[in-house]
Amino acid sequence: MSLRSKFALFAIVLSVLVAAQGAVSFERERRALVQGVEERALVLVRTLADAAREPIASSRYYLLDAQVRSILTERDAAYARILDDRGRIVADTRPGFVGWSVSGSDRSSTPLSTDGDTLLARASIVVPGRADCLAELALRLGPLRERLARSRVVLLRFALAELGACIAFLALLSFQVLGPVRALTRTLIAASPDGAPAPIRLPGASGPEIRSIARAVDELRVRIAEYQAELVAEERLATIGKMAAEVAHEVRNPLEAISGAAELLSRGDERDEYIEVIRQEVRSLDAYLSGILEFARVGAQGPEASDLSDLVDETAALARPMAKEARIRLRIGGRGGPLPCSVDRSAVKRAIFNLVANAVEAGPSGSEVRLETDADDSTVRLRVIDGGPGLDAAVRERAFEPYFTTKRKGTGLGLALVRRIAESHGGRAYFEDGSPGTTVVLELPKYPTEAADRQREGA
Ligand code: ADP
Ligand code: MG
Repeated sequence: MSLRSKFALFAIVLSVLVAAQGAVSFERERRALVQGVEERALVLVRTLADAAREPIASSRYYLLDAQVRSILTERDAAYARILDDRGRIVADTRPGFVGWSVSGSDRSSTPLSTDGDTLLARASIVVPGRADCLAELALRLGPLRERLARSRVVLLRFALAELGACIAFLALLSFQVLGPVRALTRTLIAASPDGAPAPIRLPGASGPEIRSIARAVDELRVRIAEYQAELVAEERLATIGKMAAEVAHEVRNPLEAISGAAELLSRGDERDEYIEVIRQEVRSLDAYLSGILEFARVGAQGPEASDLSDLVDETAALARPMAKEARIRLRIGGRGGPLPCSVDRSAVKRAIFNLVANAVEAGPSGSEVRLETDADDSTVRLRVIDGGPGLDAAVRERAFEPYFTTKRKGTGLGLALVRRIAESHGGRAYFEDGSPGTTVVLELPKYPTEAADRQREGA
């Protein structure tokens, strides 16, 4: 669940909680207010009943008028009245009602009842030697309801303010954290593995914490770029070192042939033949040294239209002395036909050389290393297959990591570089399951692709 969804869920849960809390508070307040009014009504009616006892006992009913009227000082009083033991109204705040009789159903004996907009309270007036009389009081419920409505508005305002504050906080969090984090990851995903890393651009509202994370990530990316450049340089040195011995070996043979021919030449016999030997050896030395020079060319070269088969042939020629010394045969095969690609030739040759070197180092003496090329619509591919023992799972897992090696004199940089070179061309390098030995695949984008060819033909 994304952080954004969690925020939304949190906002919903919060709204429900705030609403529930508001409802509970309101109910509590309503109950307290109602109870207050009911208790006041009972106290008033009992006081009235107590006060009325004496005038009734002495039959001085005219005194009751002032007593019922005293109730009217209550702001919400509707009326008050006194009924005698036969249900006749003997005093009433509404003068027109005096003398009326109240029927039994209206003379309910419950102390409290409501009747539409009024609350009725009753108390018996106990006079010794007579049946009970009754004091009745009615309070209007209007003021109570107004107070409840006012308190409902206040509670509602509080709940809205609470919710508003939470939503504002979540929005702030979203602006300062979620948005910037998304911008940060977008930059990192879009960043190409090569080239100087562009600094992460954050939205203006980003919080200071996110800004410092972005700064740290920027620094890290610069350091990784430097480290990668170092890796390239180190691996180039390692490969060149490995080749130096082969070069010396490879150069010594023609030099010996040349010096032998020169020796014989100085004796004056068969000049043309020896001169031809010298020319041939010099030509092959020249070709070999050009190959080495191109291979060791420093700095990234621009991509050039190339054919993967040519690169494989040229690299195999450079690797042959090493293979011969290990008594391993290099066999080039695979699909005929062009394998066009647009690549930095020396970089790709270094990658191929590293694969061949690993294959030669893995294979037992007398075995074979196969270099097989093929292609499909969009990819050209080289498989380097050796007759070695293969890879166990732990090595296979880590072999492409820089500095991972199982060899006593290994650098652990070969496969890391192969992968880096493949990826910088938009290709990839990986192990493939299959033959008993190891198969490593180097894939590069085909250029121009067959799809582009067909499009051109169609146009
Ligand atoms: P290095 O050759 O210097 O050890 P690499 O990066 O070229 O470094 O290879 C890393 C490790 O991967 C090697 O040490 C080896 O264990 C394993 N490896 C690579 N290629 C092969 C192969 N063809 N057969 C068996 N193991 C291999
Ligand atoms: Mg290696």
